[in-house]
Amino acid sequence: MLIQQNNSKTNLIGLDREQMEAFFADMNEKPFRATQTMKWIHQVGITDFSEMTNLSKSLREKLDGRCEISVPEITLDQLSVDGTRKWLLSVPGRSAIEMVFIPEESRGTLCVSSQVGCSLDCKFCATAQLDRMRNLNVDEIFDQVVAIDQQSKTYFDIPLSNIVFMGMGEPLMNYNNVLGAIEKITSPEGLGMASKRITLSTSGIPKLIRKMADDGVKFNLAVSLHSAIQSTREKIMPFSEKFPVDELLSSLEYWYEATQRMVTIEFIVWKGINDNLEEVRALVNFCRKFPSKVNLIEYNPIGDDTFEQASKEAMSMYQNKLTAARIINTIRRSRGKDIDAACGQLANKALKN
Ligand code: SAH
Repeated sequence: MLIQQNNSKTNLIGLDREQMEAFFADMNEKPFRATQTMKWIHQVGITDFSEMTNLSKSLREKLDGRCEISVPEITLDQLSVDGTRKWLLSVPGRSAIEMVFIPEESRGTLCVSSQVGCSLDCKFCATAQLDRMRNLNVDEIFDQVVAIDQQSKTYFDIPLSNIVFMGMGEPLMNYNNVLGAIEKITSPEGLGMASKRITLSTSGIPKLIRKMADDGVKFNLAVSLHSAIQSTREKIMPFSEKFPVDELLSSLEYWYEATQRMVTIEFIVWKGINDNLEEVRALVNFCRKFPSKVNLIEYNPIGDDTFEQASKEAMSMYQNKLTAARIINTIRRSRGKDIDAACGQLANKALKN
């Protein structure tokens, strides 16, 4: 999307270092000019070549004639009563990606999407109900971060500090593009964000968790477990029939051995589904096998009656049992519910109207 020529001008915003150097080489310019330009674009946020003061005047003029720095177009912007902001970013094919930004006092977290729709079938998630599905390419993922980094500075006076792949889609089903985008987000010539500020959330695909460990990734891993009992998990996440809990567990042990990084376990507690002692015990046993912390998540209704948030007592039972087993745990309160920006609510409502 980003290397496209608009009015025959090349948009520099999505080029990675290799592409940028090739572009500069074509103009008979040295590679360090590419690096300088990338710093102006991504670290200073400049879109006007005349302000790139360490480039010669003639190079600035040349760039102005041949290129542009055009940030991706945002089509809708909604603000929640709790400060959460949701944007739509248009992508080809009459689709849009939903992005959610959660500002806190000193940090801003962006919830990034990896697919339009989702390739999996979690019964409790609105994104799974969309009929359109496609993988986002590297630039479409990177674009979200570039666009919101700028918005974050403009609206909240804070840079984007954390990224979670918890928007639409299953990031591991779009492995190469997600890792390619993370590479661009973290490279010093790109946004230069530290890998430890990025979290990839997966519904749990054992083979690909092992692959990430083998590939030496440096970001954090979160897994949407929701039940450590196979028969329950299959009911709420039917795809998991192919990826049994035991295999998921051994892939996480493998991950920890290879990376020495703790895994976050995401866990929604529902009334009548997993709000019982057997489920809590299974979760505790699962988490004992490798260093982990548990995020107990409040369910965000998606407009059908099948699922209902568990009682406060059930949440307390989970907290008490986990704490007694010395497993770190927190309750993740939902943000942005009123604008359908909370986890599991991303479903392109705007496009359906
Ligand atoms: N596919 C990835 C990332 C997207 S979902 C994954 O499954 O992890 C991001 C998080 O939102 C996951 O933990 C998911 O289980 C959770 N989620 C989905 N629907 C939800 C809902 N209705 N209420 C609360 N959390 C939900």
